[in-house]
Amino acid sequence: MRTPLIAGNWKMNGSVALINDFGQAFAAAVSPTSVEVVIIPPFPYLDAACQAFEGTVLSLGAQTLNPIHSGAHTGEVSGRMLKEFAVSHVLVGHSERRQLYNESDEQIFARLLAALSVEIKPILCVGESLEERDAGRTMEVVLRQVGYVMSRLEPDQRQQVVIAYEPVWAIGTGRTASPEQAQEVMAGIRAYQAGFDKQLAEKLRLLYGGSMNASNAAELLAQPDIDGGLVGGASLKIDDFYTICQSAG
Ligand code: PEP
Repeated sequence: MRTPLIAGNWKMNGSVALINDFGQAFAAAVSPTSVEVVIIPPFPYLDAACQAFEGTVLSLGAQTLNPIHSGAHTGEVSGRMLKEFAVSHVLVGHSERRQLYNESDEQIFARLLAALSVEIKPILCVGESLEERDAGRTMEVVLRQVGYVMSRLEPDQRQQVVIAYEPVWAIGTGRTASPEQAQEVMAGIRAYQAGFDKQLAEKLRLLYGGSMNASNAAELLAQPDIDGGLVGGASLKIDDFYTICQSAG
């Protein structure tokens, strides 16, 4: 009942050539139509991607956005601008933004609201550090991050949000959460959401992120509460990413 979503976060990687290669590869391949596939390249590649992905299953995401629409904010990009490039999804609260750029829950919420205001679906990233997991605080941390946002939204806004559970210790480390560990947290997020609205909780799409690759994707995606993946490193390799998309289909 929930359409799987595979999103490839290129971070500060890639090139126009790689965008074109993805466009060509996915145009030629028999892509699983039952899966939504989003490529999230750096801002400068959005224009090329908009053209290269036309007629393919690939849609376009962005890695962040500024909370306001325009103004004297050198170096920033707004949701309205993203909308001009047919961006359908935007990451908010990625752990690299939380850690490297000190983004607070309040700032993340402001970005998420900005995305909703221009009808771009936010992918809210949440996850615990290794210390937090070892201290048995995983659910507390994750539900605080989820709750900060969800408790402030109206019901119709909650429906637009996708949540990516990304244990920080698994991002870019080659260390993946086991399917059972990921499922446990996903089920906890869905149960929390059911506290607001049971039907909405059933529709909520939950992605796993953290060293997902062509070998481990199928097992993770087979879990009942995992509806897709947020893929970093493996999303830069066409064959691996395609295999992950097929695993979700
Ligand atoms: C990410 O950056 O969201 C991510 C999951 O990265 P990786 O797949 O490389 O761990």
